[in-house]
Amino acid sequence: AYPYDYLIVGSGLFGATFAHFAHKRGARCLVIDKRPHLGGNVYCQDVEGIHVHQYGAHIFHTSNKRVWDFVNSIVPFNRYTNSPVANYQGRLYNLPFNMNTFYQMWGVVTPEEAAAKIEEQRAEALAKMRAEGATEPRNLEEQALALIGRDIYERLIKGYTEKQWGRQCTELPAFIIKRLPVRLVYDNNYFNDLYQGIPVGGYNRLIDGLLEGVDTRTNTDFFDDRAHWEQMAPTIVYTGQLDEFFEYRYGHLNFRTVRFETEVKPQPNYQGNAVVNYTDAAVPYTRIIEHKHFEQFGQQVYDNPHTVISREYSTEWQPGMEPYYPVNDEANNALADRYRALAATLSPSVIFGGRLAEYKYYDMAPIIEKVMGMWE
Ligand code: FAD
Repeated sequence: AYPYDYLIVGSGLFGATFAHFAHKRGARCLVIDKRPHLGGNVYCQDVEGIHVHQYGAHIFHTSNKRVWDFVNSIVPFNRYTNSPVANYQGRLYNLPFNMNTFYQMWGVVTPEEAAAKIEEQRAEALAKMRAEGATEPRNLEEQALALIGRDIYERLIKGYTEKQWGRQCTELPAFIIKRLPVRLVYDNNYFNDLYQGIPVGGYNRLIDGLLEGVDTRTNTDFFDDRAHWEQMAPTIVYTGQLDEFFEYRYGHLNFRTVRFETEVKPQPNYQGNAVVNYTDAAVPYTRIIEHKHFEQFGQQVYDNPHTVISREYSTEWQPGMEPYYPVNDEANNALADRYRALAATLSPSVIFGGRLAEYKYYDMAPIIEKVMGMWE
């Protein structure tokens, strides 16, 4: 007889949400995580009373009312609205590209003036491409120029994209940028979703709420004693790396990662916004996150005399680093498919779920939606 119905490997949003629903239905669950804390990548560390998003800034957003109502039933969410600012050579521009950006860029005031300016710059870029004999954009630079023109490309896209990928835009494929939405309205709200926010009291509250009443163990790596953990339950919910589960027998799946340089500042307000992108190639980091602005608004910012910032550096992933973003190119997708075929042979006694085990980028809301669907 097994002591549990489910052994859940990984306490990120997939594992924690799965455990929540299983526990509610009366199943006995054990959640293990190799990290010293629960929560996976949404975990926040408390530094000087500020919730620091240790694995990268996380903003919850969804248009799915059931998902929104569900997470709010675990912990209420605040009204944080993501409106990043770009800093290019000391000048600031609002994102995403909207009337504020166009006013800052060209001094244009009406939507007609902005549209005409963008059209003029696109036409210029397309004429240049055609003069060189190209009928289609041959790389990311030409694609961006054809979509939005020189000024926005050079000041807000080029340097940022080159830092993100560690390659020149002229050497990146055009398909990376399919569309560049422009808004001819004065609206800096980054997401188009109906709902967005941050859990009041931080993400750890969400994880603690999901895992209430569930047995958990941290500092516990499934692979340190695989045979032992496999005796714990007839069904394993696995949310770790897909290739690692199969001992990398076909080779390593690749990832992109981010290095964070986090610093406590002896001042209450460093940059006045949660997210500032540095779009100039000469600045080595891509963004600075100032964590308190996710949860403290207006004058509340000054209640705490300190602030915590994180500079983000895009970095090539090596085994041993945090695997953040799957690289969904042809070679990696083909390799992942071979592992997925192996995984399918273990169904239903092993359920592979989440961003690492599916080798697929998921935002938080789709993860929750997926697990909710499994329990309906
Ligand atoms: P994870 O959170 O990674 O959890 C997996 C867990 O499994 C980890 O805790 C790990 O320690 C554990 N584990 C792995 N192997 C083992 C093992 N062998 N034994 C025991 N435990 C193991 N989504 C948004 O909606 N908005 C955002 O703003 C946003 N920002 C993001 C920024 C970054 C940099 C990244 C990488 C992702 C971001 N996401 C965002 C996506 C979000 O992080 C994911 O949707 C979410 O983390 C997925 O949860 P998960 O449970 O699949 O994975």
